Amino acid sequence: MIRMVLFIITLLLMGACKEANQQKSHHPSNDDQFPMYAMVIHGGAGTILKKNMTDEKEKAYTNALNEALSIGEKILKNGGTSADAVEKTINYLENSPLFNAGKGAVFTHHETNELDASLMYGNDLSAGAVGGVNTIKNPISAARTVLEKSEHVFMVGKGAEEFASLHDIEMVDPSYFYTERRYKSLKRIKDQESTELSESDDVNKKHGTVGAVALDLQGNIVAGTSTGGMTNKKYNRIGDSPIIGAGTYANNKTCGVSCTGHGEFFIRYAVAHAISSAMEYGNMNVQEAGDLVINQQLVEAGGTGGAIILDQNGNIAMPFNTEGMYRGYVNPHDRVIKIYKD
Ligand code: ASP
Repeated sequence: MIRMVLFIITLLLMGACKEANQQKSHHPSNDDQFPMYAMVIHGGAGTILKKNMTDEKEKAYTNALNEALSIGEKILKNGGTSADAVEKTINYLENSPLFNAGKGAVFTHHETNELDASLMYGNDLSAGAVGGVNTIKNPISAARTVLEKSEHVFMVGKGAEEFASLHDIEMVDPSYFYTERRYKSLKRIKDQESTELSESDDVNKKHGTVGAVALDLQGNIVAGTSTGGMTNKKYNRIGDSPIIGAGTYANNKTCGVSCTGHGEFFIRYAVAHAISSAMEYGNMNVQEAGDLVINQQLVEAGGTGGAIILDQNGNIAMPFNTEGMYRGYVNPHDRVIKIYKD
């Protein structure tokens, strides 16, 4: 009888231990529920409509997003860090003239380019950012250098450029950032400005910022964002992209986030951090948190844009409240690229 009771107690204890272990195991593994690595990217949100897109243009964007995903995936698959995956993927997007970041950045009112970028590590909440730079070829790499090689988080203008040049970051002449397409859209907007500046303005319609969030085999999340800001910006305006908590945020406990959209709203609503907080304090999943902030709060406020979100279990959300958002993700089971609303 005693033996029988002991046996039953042992069985009960074994069951309890197993359950406790399952609850603790947030580390990504390679079963269906927990992909071992994942990366999600965006190339900006805005009025991106199929009817305004040529086949050629659609193909060019799809190919670029696909190539960007492959760069990050190769690093993650081989055991590289999410920091490397995010930096190298964003470098590729910065070097492409298709996106409003690096080469392809939009023009300011004074016909210059001023670039912003930020990067954040989810394991220790360390972060780095640069703002208003125009001689750094790849601002996301400069942001990483601020994170890793300085005791600061955010450097701007000439100081940021001086710091970058001291750390082997590739510097370029400001003319490197010239592209005819972006110059023409500045001209168009300025012409409109002298007549009527309205909601039909390009500024509110296209946000071509780039961003990436990655989860590596060690379970670390890193998020990064890089942009040329908004066309026709004045007075050294800086948007949300280099502001930690607004355009970028990462915390292994919750998620990594990179945003794109009308920066002033993303700053005021601390969008990236709000999404993380909705998960931390509101117990929401990535989809619910993204919908709450992007599709409810921002919509009520009149702020256009979107975000990419990735948690430690590889769950991904890509909410946006515009007509479209260049976006995609990859994990061991899936590769998805999308432009328009579903
Ligand atoms: N969020 C960026 C900014 O306001 C613009 C964008 O996402 O396209 O600077």
